Amino acid sequence: MTRRTAIGSLATIGGAIAISPTLLSGMVSEDKKLGVALVGLGNYATLQLGPALRQTKVCELRGIVTGTPEKAVNWQKEYGISPEHTYDYETFDRLKDDPAIDIVYIVLPNFMHAEYTIRALQAGKHVICEKPMGMDAAECETMIAAAKKAGRKLQVGYRLFYEPHHLQMMKWAQEPFEGRIRLMETSLGFDMARPGLWRIDPKMGGGGALMDLGPYVIQAARRAAGQMPVSVMAQGYIDDPGLYKGIYGTYAWQLRFADHTVCNSTVSFSAYVDRYYVAKGNQFLELKPAFAANSKLTLQDRENATTLPSAEFQQATQMDAFARNILDDTPVVASGEEARTDMRIIDAIKESLKSGKEVDIPR
Ligand code: NAD
Repeated sequence: MTRRTAIGSLATIGGAIAISPTLLSGMVSEDKKLGVALVGLGNYATLQLGPALRQTKVCELRGIVTGTPEKAVNWQKEYGISPEHTYDYETFDRLKDDPAIDIVYIVLPNFMHAEYTIRALQAGKHVICEKPMGMDAAECETMIAAAKKAGRKLQVGYRLFYEPHHLQMMKWAQEPFEGRIRLMETSLGFDMARPGLWRIDPKMGGGGALMDLGPYVIQAARRAAGQMPVSVMAQGYIDDPGLYKGIYGTYAWQLRFADHTVCNSTVSFSAYVDRYYVAKGNQFLELKPAFAANSKLTLQDRENATTLPSAEFQQATQMDAFARNILDDTPVVASGEEARTDMRIIDAIKESLKSGKEVDIPR
């Protein structure tokens, strides 16, 4: 076989990856659109999810839950939400009597995810919960069990599970051409730690950059490898002891897989990095930037660099896919089980940080 570049091999194996034929098959009539209520109107809801819900075809924004009356008024005006679909944290459980709301999207700080997900499921709603889905794998388990008990669907807000360039990375990694994948590097970091930020409070965030950014780089590694890592060895660094209390500013670890593939990862709240690199022999494929929402992603191999048009609002695809899963009663791709898998790895990283030893990852 002649030598081909990684991007060239993608072209011959089918290049563009179908996300879901039903999802792309067109608009759903107005009355079939599912109603979404956003819970927690902070940065992510305001800058990403609200605008993305203007682009969704299978669901639409119909309700909000907020503890701040001024935000309620602003969102009502901006998105035409009626006061009868506006809730606060006291009236949250009344969602069960609101037939206009099918999907409740939890966009709260991490420590509140499990409680509000379970309450929304008990109110009979389908739920999307932001990442990290729970504070640990055991909490994710409780959330999955609550969805099963309620007979409702649960999605974790993993927008990159629906992002075509990430799907291309996975497809190339698992192509037998050029041999098997040997080495990966997946990293994400920003200079973002500030006093008072809930993300750096161990009780609210659960572990700084590890909890906030870890799910992206861990899911990229295990999905490219197409298997679970068997063990992890982790280290933590603090560059500002006045800021980081009970957490590290930067976390680095090495995941090992049964076939001797390794993945080196760094996540940081102190410095910028955003990279997804997969190598097989002398071939590599790299996305840079890779994980931040709505960046233009550049896919590069040894000979070509292709800046692919960034999908505007990956979250629209993610939310429409979930609405489709509900309407068609099909399995959720970014499922609660996927989130639990990543949390098992994060739990093992925390254990390695404590013990200073390599830790086995449960399957
Ligand atoms: P944020 O701090 O901007 O917003 C959090 C919201 O929760 C605020 O509106 C705040 O008022 C509200 N809140 C309610 N009760 C609170 C309490 N007791 N303490 C603190 N805040 C309370 O945070 P964000 O950046 O919007 O993140 C929210 C969630 O979304 C997090 O879990 C985060 O990991 C996730 N997120 C995901 C992505 C992604 O790309 N998937 C991107 C950003 C954030």
